Amino acid sequence: MTKGQVMTTLRTPTQLCDRGLISSDQRAALEAVTARYAVALPPALTKLIDRDDPADPIARQFVPDAAELDHRPEELVDPIGDEAHSPVEGIVHRYPDRVLFKLTHVCAVYCRFCFRREMIGPDKPNALSPQKVARALDYIRTHPEIWEVILTGGDPLILSARRLRAVMKELAAIDHVKVVRIHTRMPVADPERVSPELVRAMKIKGKATYVAVHVNHPRELTPQTRSACARMADAGIPLLSQTVLLAGVNDTSNVMTELMRALVECRIKPYYLHHGDLAPGTAHLRTDIATGQELIRSLRGRISGLCQPTYVLDIPGGHGKSPIGPTYIERVGSNGSAHTVVRDFNGQQHQYPPKAV
Ligand code: SF4
Repeated sequence: MTKGQVMTTLRTPTQLCDRGLISSDQRAALEAVTARYAVALPPALTKLIDRDDPADPIARQFVPDAAELDHRPEELVDPIGDEAHSPVEGIVHRYPDRVLFKLTHVCAVYCRFCFRREMIGPDKPNALSPQKVARALDYIRTHPEIWEVILTGGDPLILSARRLRAVMKELAAIDHVKVVRIHTRMPVADPERVSPELVRAMKIKGKATYVAVHVNHPRELTPQTRSACARMADAGIPLLSQTVLLAGVNDTSNVMTELMRALVECRIKPYYLHHGDLAPGTAHLRTDIATGQELIRSLRGRISGLCQPTYVLDIPGGHGKSPIGPTYIERVGSNGSAHTVVRDFNGQQHQYPPKAV
């Protein structure tokens, strides 16, 4: 970039090439990727990429890769089965007491592993019109079993404070909705956008607002991102994290330890570690489940209980999330000798209750 040039969000292979993030040889192959999947690399993340590191974990998450054209038979357009549980457009009602409310299909950054990659992007036709938002709110209003509404997308914090406030006020007026949870990558992608005004719009009288921040690598927690999170925490909004387990990004014990500790230091309680979903063209970023379990085992022995996320898999087909972390307890022996054995953080087994001496 030349002096005086303003940094903008990069959206095309030519822009990525001009900024030295891909080579000119890669450009043609990446035209095919960007024709299919949205690309957006905002300045906050462009600045973080180490161009001298061909395996840079930030680039790996956001710079398109020709490997995205490698679609595996097991991969699914809708890997977690949102469509099967969508009674009206914008709502996913998979679990009895909560719904997803997908207000927008736009994000500030497009993660290369996104499980909704076929549904999101600026050129997708299915952004929610005001009429569709009204229908979605009607659905929530007429289903008293809905205790929690999860705003997701796309990124709900791409909305202006005015639009977000309007939706939050509608939700505040629904008696049976007690909790609104906002899932966002905005503090990482464009921290300045998490302005005091936007934070004020997140809070509604008489309800609890939680924010789940998506963070995958400790380097994403820049001073600006930490300040954005602090603005929410200082406003009394409890913060949770979501992390996607990604090959070459965070699939080592050292990186995961650093990330989980950094989150807690930012007053963000680690919540979910997601196993990579079977989104099309993402095999190069997925690990196997055994790797995830080993990582969780290593965290358990190494760092504070506050830093432990729950490792979960969204079962393909819309069957919901299940915890898939290692088990620490098993039943051994048979009949009269059957007993329970518990494994400690060093891997040693102990009978429970202990044998009487
Ligand atoms: S911010 Fe979330 S919804 Fe948007 S591309 Fe990334 S993972 Fe997908």
